[in-house]
Amino acid sequence: MARLTSHYVALAGGVGGAKLAHGLAQILPPQALTILVNTGDDFEHFGLTICPDLDTVCYTLAGLANPETGWGRREESWRALENVRRLGGPDWFRLGDQDLGTHLERTRRLREGQPLSAITRDFCRAWGIAHRVLPMSDDPVRTIVTTEEYGDLPFQEYFVRYAWQPRVRGFRFQGAATARPIPEAVKALAEADAIILCPSNPWVSIDPILAVYAPYLPKAKPVIAVSPIIGGQAVKGPAAKMFTELGIEASARSVAEHYRPYLTDFVLDQADAALQESIASMGIRVHLAQTLMHTEADRRRLAEDVLNFIHQR
Ligand code: GDP
Repeated sequence: MARLTSHYVALAGGVGGAKLAHGLAQILPPQALTILVNTGDDFEHFGLTICPDLDTVCYTLAGLANPETGWGRREESWRALENVRRLGGPDWFRLGDQDLGTHLERTRRLREGQPLSAITRDFCRAWGIAHRVLPMSDDPVRTIVTTEEYGDLPFQEYFVRYAWQPRVRGFRFQGAATARPIPEAVKALAEADAIILCPSNPWVSIDPILAVYAPYLPKAKPVIAVSPIIGGQAVKGPAAKMFTELGIEASARSVAEHYRPYLTDFVLDQADAALQESIASMGIRVHLAQTLMHTEADRRRLAEDVLNFIHQR
């Protein structure tokens, strides 16, 4: 397979996915990469439509992301939210002033009836992003987390308001059964030489995308996932905790098992080399890499490794 003429589709959630997507975007020309982003954790707040994963991916690709948090904008100010707080309004979801501008303009255009994919395309152009970023659907899909303590919670209530502390019992993706895939994404998947599942939360970042696109994944092409679990722990967020609470061992092996119906290749962190054989015994090609991305160079290096693994066949 000739790497120079190849096209890749990367499935991504927020921070972990955005980092690898950024690495890929740094080494691939724009026409070689489509990034398909989870919208299951989108929600409405203050009457605004907020798309946290889409914004994290776009801010990261544009070099606008906050380097400390991985989400939100760099050089952000918080005056609007401070005012909301002073007025007694809800301040549990942190919205910076510049970020608010994104939600205002997106909501204005959505209310005019414009599709999220077209709005995202224009925002990308304005932010100088050359690679194609697509929301997984123009129709709303909403991830609901079933918890032991509070029953069903909309994703952001679980994740931010309750700081992902409730014990999870399961997930459902409201609207996914009828959400229409983006035609450009279906075409990109059909023409892709490989699909990359970024190191995002399998349960709440990648599964919602698969809920819409599983029928469109190419059958005879490499599908490679990078483990978001290293040494039995999530680099950030509740991924490992979710596995444990669902009665599944939190490990990279469980991630491979989770994606097994789709996977041809799996990238395991060097720290988990001991799991190599047991994952390979599932009929999956296993590759070792340093998968922690602290710096921009780490992102590029992991992206290079992933492309090399794809083309090593
Ligand atoms: P969220 O929507 O912000 O939670 O973002 P994601 O779903 O993309 O990311 C959360 C997952 O990414 C977690 O399971 C993390 O363990 C994983 N993750 C974050 N940074 C890294 C990294 O540098 N390397 C790897 N391998 N996984 C990461």
